Amino acid sequence: MPVQPIAPPHRFRLHLMRSLLLHLSESKRLAPLIMHNGVSKRVARRFVAGETLDDAVQAARRVNVAGLAASLDLLGENVSNEEGARRSAEGYLAIFDRIAQEKLAANVSLKLTQLGLDLGSSLCVELVEKIAAHAAARGNFLRIDMEGSAYTDRTIEIVKRVRSKCTNVGAVVQAYLYRSEQDIADLLQSGSRIRLCKGAYDEPPEVAFPNKADVDANYIKLMKILLASGIYHGIATHDPVMIQATKTFAREKKIGRDRFEFQMLHGIRTDLQKTLAREGYRVRIYIPFGTEWFPYFMRRLAERPANLTFFLRSLLPRFPSRNTS
Ligand SMILES: Cc1cc2nc3c(=O)[nH]c(=O)nc-3n(C[C@H](O)[C@H](O)[C@H](O)COP(=O)(O)OP(=O)(O)OC[C@H]3O[C@@H](n4cnc5c(N)ncnc54)[C@H](O)[C@@H]3O)c2cc1C
Repeated sequence: MPVQPIAPPHRFRLHLMRSLLLHLSESKRLAPLIMHNGVSKRVARRFVAGETLDDAVQAARRVNVAGLAASLDLLGENVSNEEGARRSAEGYLAIFDRIAQEKLAANVSLKLTQLGLDLGSSLCVELVEKIAAHAAARGNFLRIDMEGSAYTDRTIEIVKRVRSKCTNVGAVVQAYLYRSEQDIADLLQSGSRIRLCKGAYDEPPEVAFPNKADVDANYIKLMKILLASGIYHGIATHDPVMIQATKTFAREKKIGRDRFEFQMLHGIRTDLQKTLAREGYRVRIYIPFGTEWFPYFMRRLAERPANLTFFLRSLLPRFPSRNTS
């Protein structure tokens, strides 16, 4: 584990704010307050395509027209009973049907806690296998998102287990975790496609690099391992430095632009998304939708102080101008 330098005060404040927002993202009390507020709904729409599958399909069509692929995500995390998990699974089957019907260039991303991971592995495996088989019958692909580090082991185990029956399932690895290089080696052995991201949860320094510079350095190291593996992976980032490092490495190693894809989130750096596509790179946009958008929205606020400032300003009541006549 690296020695940690003392962070300057502003970085410390940013770190505290990020931790606070990520902590609040799990608050069952705050969620309804934010989700039923008209202003929050409007601000959240920057990051979330809408509340219905129709909204997501429209967003996917728009990105397809611009030459980009999509990955649809039905928002919802940590279901508390089997009925909720089965309902989420039905939602995912319907998404694959709709993608096929509409002939969209799109796959699907999901979180295992939405399929009952907290209720035990067997229900979760049963549901993922069902969804993966449904996707395979439609020639499609299922990405299992990565959640907080309490779920990393179980998520990787389930991806590998489902892959032994359905190979159209891929994983996500987070560059901020110390363990990720080992996880990549393990997943590559099973032939899994991997999405590399920096990581969006609040992790302690015992498991994750606390400093952004270390996360970025690890991201570049892991990106090189992935690209050199010969398997088709997703390089998920909006960071121009990570993107440039990927382009440079691919050029040096003569890895074709069709051998990997860049991935970005709906509503973030749309300019960069289109530029990459124009340059001939493959780009996929992660399109979340659904009524359970609160934790996802809070993670996006936590990533960038400017998002939080904009949100708080929007919440302030507008005072009517004083009549001075
Ligand atoms: C397709 C995709 C899938 C993901 N899946 C997962 C997952 O399964 N598990 C997981 O833990 N994380 C996931 N993430 C989130 C990821 O871990 C990061 O939290 C997020 O992408 C921000 O990191 P960055 O690489 O863009 O770099 P950063 O250094 O955070 O940001 C680089 C630049 O991107 C822009 N930017 C980044 N975030 C925002 C934002 N919220 N609002 C506005 N601008 C922003 C800014 O211009 C910023 O300067 C995913 C990200 C993507 C793109």
